Amino acid sequence: MSSVAQLVNHLVRPEILALSAYHVPDCTGLIKLDAMENPYLVPQVLRDEIAAIVASAPVNRYPDPNPQALKEKIRHLLGLPDGMAVLLGNGSDELIQLLAMAVNKPGAVLLSVEPSFVMYKMIATFVGMRYAGVPLAADFSLDLSATLEAIRREQPVLVFLAYPNNPTGNLFARDEVRQIIEASPGLVVIDEAYYAFASDSFVNDLANYPNLLVMRTFSKLGMAGLRLGFLAGSALWLEQLEKLRLPYNVGVLPQLVAEKLLENHSVLLQQAEQIKKDRTVLYQQLSAIAGVEVYSSEANFLLLRLADANRVFNELKRRGVLVKNLNGGHPMLNDCLRVTVGTPAENERFIEALQESIGQV
Ligand SMILES: *Cc1c(COP(=O)(O)O)cnc(C)c1O
Repeated sequence: MSSVAQLVNHLVRPEILALSAYHVPDCTGLIKLDAMENPYLVPQVLRDEIAAIVASAPVNRYPDPNPQALKEKIRHLLGLPDGMAVLLGNGSDELIQLLAMAVNKPGAVLLSVEPSFVMYKMIATFVGMRYAGVPLAADFSLDLSATLEAIRREQPVLVFLAYPNNPTGNLFARDEVRQIIEASPGLVVIDEAYYAFASDSFVNDLANYPNLLVMRTFSKLGMAGLRLGFLAGSALWLEQLEKLRLPYNVGVLPQLVAEKLLENHSVLLQQAEQIKKDRTVLYQQLSAIAGVEVYSSEANFLLLRLADANRVFNELKRRGVLVKNLNGGHPMLNDCLRVTVGTPAENERFIEALQESIGQV
């Protein structure tokens, strides 16, 4: 008889054995500025309405596999023209996986830029797809000639560009993104997870390109706990992806709560506006600290570089503030930390803790 460990090692694919699971640190008692969550709950009246909706929700039944009212609200928010549809996912992470599964013919390549959202590469590995990562320029803008060259060489069936990019926070140059879409033989997905905090979007370009889809999530807008993301684009694309979607991927409660929250989208957008203002304040405060380099951001987080990020990360944590340590994740992120914009009080606490941590006080 083999031991469990022997069986596991024998049966699980080697590339899965080699992965380390996505690490979510314990945040008990800490100010949580590591995961780009919206720090605000919605107003109490709206929470009361949600409580009533949840109380009478038919949780004994399977969820609606095609929640028309919710999809209509999303279509309306985006101003999608006829012929364009939305596909709902259990967070946008699930949609990345659906896309990869749909186009993963033998030898197919998924291409993205680096550093960017780590799930693109991870999901390529999950589904057994080849991954090509093109380094960004030193200032985190696109290296357009290298990217176009990689597209020519690799002929990727799927390209992901996060717009704004995570973890760098910047929007790539629109015209360069356009050139990438036009040069790509495969599908290009613009990942607009941070749309609420950004000054530009590719939603209005959907009709111009047959190989373009836009992906969004409500996670960064105050619904991270619901797990709801969507793809927008031609119904012809989404029809195929629908076949791969597990029938009940979005539960009864997330559907109902999201619908209610989207009826009050302006409340969420006001919170996003507040977060953008506080991002500016935080950016200025960080810029004024000697030894801290802070990158400008169109998202709800800021990327910073400072000496000995590992030590500062631990010192911040010891002082009750959890940020994301990006040191070691990618060579271009050496000594980088990423901090989510929190409430003004949380941001102040972070700045104090940072000053103490780098020994300026
Ligand atoms: C957070 C994030 C996502 C994933 O969001 P979920 O909908 O919560 O799965 C996707 N893309 C980018 C760039 C992100 O930062």
